[in-house]
Amino acid sequence: GYEVCQMIKGNDKTSSIPIVFLTANSSNEDEEYGLEIGATDFIRKPISPRILSARVSNILNLQQVTRKLELIASTDPLTGAFNRRHLDLVGMNELSRSKRNNSTFTILMLDIDHFKGVNDTYGHDVGDEALIETVAVIKKNIRGEDLLFRLGGEEFAVMLPETTKLAAFDTAKRIRIAISEIVIQTPIASLCFTLSIGIAENTPADDNIDVIMKRADEALYRAKSSGRNKVI
Ligand code: GH3
Ligand code: MG
Ligand code: MG
Repeated sequence: GYEVCQMIKGNDKTSSIPIVFLTANSSNEDEEYGLEIGATDFIRKPISPRILSARVSNILNLQQVTRKLELIASTDPLTGAFNRRHLDLVGMNELSRSKRNNSTFTILMLDIDHFKGVNDTYGHDVGDEALIETVAVIKKNIRGEDLLFRLGGEEFAVMLPETTKLAAFDTAKRIRIAISEIVIQTPIASLCFTLSIGIAENTPADDNIDVIMKRADEALYRAKSSGRNKVI
């Protein structure tokens, strides 16, 4: 039992599964040890089925609430994209994974062009609709393992694991073109807009995600200053 518990808790894919020990080993030391290695509960035999059932349902309720809170804490309410806080977490994991496996990942920084003008001309609601549509279109153009974040305002980032900047360039270009093809009907006129994208991949010298983001941001700045609706 202890060994199985440790294996389940030691694997990222299964570590969140709650474990309840049902045991005839009823010393305090046994219970302490079970709880220490990750069991949520420790029930001594003989068991009462109703108590067992009540405890299991308490644990499952708590887990459901935790999942909901985790989702709220990691996503942007307007668009459903992941938020900045989640990028910090994912970024750290991705960086250590890339160091372990000697692998490459790429970050895209995306910023909608002249978005202030969209709000000023069409109103904030239309601006919000453009943000929601932007997220939908980006999601359609990335793989299942890629992650999309709204960093704030009209700025987004995409994390592409196991991807070089060269391969990411194609993805970025596809996103750029797909965004330029969005048409939003408004009472004033049909709205079209564009975005600019900066790309950077990790290097062995990077020891935090911010330095990679900074390089992507510099590329984005160059895309902006050299005419916008571009990938650099
Ligand atoms: P640039 O091409 O240089 O990026 O110009 P820009 O106008 O897009 O850049 P700027 O950063 O000056 O403007 C960003 C605007 O985004 C300002 C604000 O009106 C708008 N904005 C930020 N958050 C939201 C939001 O949640 N909803 C809406 N509708 N607009 C937002
Ligand atoms: Mg902008
Ligand atoms: Mg901006």
